[in-house]
Amino acid sequence: MAYLELKGIEKFFGEHRAIKGVDLDIQPGEFIVFVGPSGCGKSTLLRLIAGLEHIDGGQLNLDGRDITHLPASKRDLAMVFQSYALYPHMSVYENMSFALKLAGESKQVIEEKVTRAASILNLTDYLDRTPGALSGGQRQRVAIGRAIVRAPKVFLFDEPLSNLDAALRGQTRVEIAQLHRDLGATTIYVTHDQVEAMTLADRVVVLRDGLIEQVGSPLDLYDHPVNQFVAQFIGTPQMNVSPLNTLPAAVQAAAPAAAKGGSIGLRPEGVRLTDVATGVPAKVVLVEALGAETLIYVKTHEGAQMVARQADRAHVQVGAEVGLQLDISTAHWFDAKGRTVRTPT
Ligand code: ATP
Repeated sequence: MAYLELKGIEKFFGEHRAIKGVDLDIQPGEFIVFVGPSGCGKSTLLRLIAGLEHIDGGQLNLDGRDITHLPASKRDLAMVFQSYALYPHMSVYENMSFALKLAGESKQVIEEKVTRAASILNLTDYLDRTPGALSGGQRQRVAIGRAIVRAPKVFLFDEPLSNLDAALRGQTRVEIAQLHRDLGATTIYVTHDQVEAMTLADRVVVLRDGLIEQVGSPLDLYDHPVNQFVAQFIGTPQMNVSPLNTLPAAVQAAAPAAAKGGSIGLRPEGVRLTDVATGVPAKVVLVEALGAETLIYVKTHEGAQMVARQADRAHVQVGAEVGLQLDISTAHWFDAKGRTVRTPT
């Protein structure tokens, strides 16, 4: 039996069915990430698990117990919000100890727990400050600390890094990964950032329009997406997907029968620039030199748009005529409905 079981979970906002029957089993200690485009229902699903929204259909079990209609305070889950939700007039120590105080813990136990969490999170020197005197990253760590002291059965994170700048986001992401390794706590994390999903998750849950599209390890989703939506959602820049009829006959001939009328998907690393004479003819429309790699955006003469990733500096200019070498051995093939027909082996 799974630790956290979602069985046919549904949520309506008025007539709008925002969550359309979600089934998911989460094992103890797993780090699960919910991703998906804006409005797909990630935060709603997390809030249903947290008990912050009423579950309209289905059942939610935690550690063998039905918690579907249990109030949030009785669920033994702790949530960390994007907005931190700290008490501005309280010190860091008071913020972190508040829930324990409410639960009637002794002063000594509270001190032990807060001191330990502060040391894990590098907050020991800031315990007397109020949140207003902290940086964004420190505030986020206080919010995490407040969750840690409660030693909940499951940690829930709702886009915890989106208020931080890029450098701090990267650093805090590493800290969250380390924290998970140290505490081993079951974690559900919502983000729209697929790099966070890929780097943090044991398993990623891709949502679309209130339903799960696919669940799997990050590389499983990268290598074996079940459809074009997942294929293009995971990976940056996104997978090049081109209708077969915009590519030369030789490429079309390589397509499996079920992909006829469908499309071919190539990761940017599967597209290389070669001589005009030998490759698929295309024109360069944009060159992004990122230092360690170069992204070259091209348009074939038949109208297919693609991006090629090159691990070195490129010496091409916008407007140049180039040839493309498409590595068909790495191709994903989709049928006319966007379902995967074949992924590379
Ligand atoms: P984002 O990445 O933009 O935060 P999300 O995937 O977290 O999006 P949700 O916030 O879960 O999406 O919203 C899912 C759907 O439910 C959306 O269509 C949204 O408009 C709707 N919704 C969410 N909360 C409410 C509410 N309180 N009342 C009515 N509709 C809501």
